[in-house]
Amino acid sequence: MNAIITVFLLSLIAGLGTGLGGLIAVIRRPGPRQYGFLMGITAGVMITLSFLELVNEAWELQGFATATIGFGAGAIFMFVVDVTIPHIRFGVKEIPHSAESNAIDTPEPHRHGRRRSGQVRNRTPIEQGLLKSGILIAIGITIHNFPEGIAVGAGYMHTPAFGIFIALAILLHNIPEGIATALPLCKSGVCRWDSFRVAFLSGLAEPVGALFAALFLTSFQGLIPGALEGQINAETVKRVSDRVRLIAEGANGPTTLEADQVFMENNVFVIPDFLCNAGGVTVSYFESVQNDMNYYWTREEVLEHLDTKITQAFNSVVEMAAREQVFMRDAAYMVAIDRVVKAMELRGWL
Ligand SMILES: [Zn+2]
Repeated sequence: MNAIITVFLLSLIAGLGTGLGGLIAVIRRPGPRQYGFLMGITAGVMITLSFLELVNEAWELQGFATATIGFGAGAIFMFVVDVTIPHIRFGVKEIPHSAESNAIDTPEPHRHGRRRSGQVRNRTPIEQGLLKSGILIAIGITIHNFPEGIAVGAGYMHTPAFGIFIALAILLHNIPEGIATALPLCKSGVCRWDSFRVAFLSGLAEPVGALFAALFLTSFQGLIPGALEGQINAETVKRVSDRVRLIAEGANGPTTLEADQVFMENNVFVIPDFLCNAGGVTVSYFESVQNDMNYYWTREEVLEHLDTKITQAFNSVVEMAAREQVFMRDAAYMVAIDRVVKAMELRGWL
């Protein structure tokens, strides 16, 4: 549980960067020059991050097509948000479109119920544009802070130092994001305190994402029964935590039939022994192959061949389990027996 509190605090600190940026933006009412300069910085930071970091990483991780489709989806989403929320009242009245609508002064209940009299005035077209971009940026930043929080949470659960590093990096880059959120709002006539509050709140998506990741990751656990045969039996299986969702059998036959039944019923993902610990026997086979050739591989070559073989074997078992809707152990037997039958057929034995 301690890790979860740490993740929460770390991501909260990272998220406060947005509020800090918001504060920087509104602490002194920026003149047109500072405004242009600050917005320029923020645009530069955001574009550089998007193209040198985010899209690049996405391309590397998931390939060009998937990442580009995601990129397009994000753009379309922001466009739809842009066209569907054109009329938002945010403390200052909109510009009426018809001439006589100057008379319109309907006492619309203000969102925060604290519109001070005498503050009501019309927005200039530029201010309207600013309001719109402020709202769009706030929505965009809030949405993207959620996966950033996930990165902090998942990073910390992986290695605490890594999580802290991510949190610091996000804290720093959240400052320009906070400026980008609060500045256009403030400039469009929204009161400074409200502009700051929007930036501050958008940063709170960060701990939400982080907690989500941390709770998700701690609700699962792996178990590696190694060395001893029959160690998970009808008795000891009761002591296996409910959080164990994956069992990798290092030993030969560590799970008895009764215990296996329990795992099957609870949908635990089991990597069965003769798949999980097959690395040793596979490399033994490589040794005999090398002896036959009288040509010996480097360590790297051995590992590479092993990786190919084991990954192929694992994938065919997972595919079989999914296709036939069977337990991993049964799927592994099905794959193995299938192969023996095929080999016997090819040799004309059957
Ligand atoms: Zn960000």
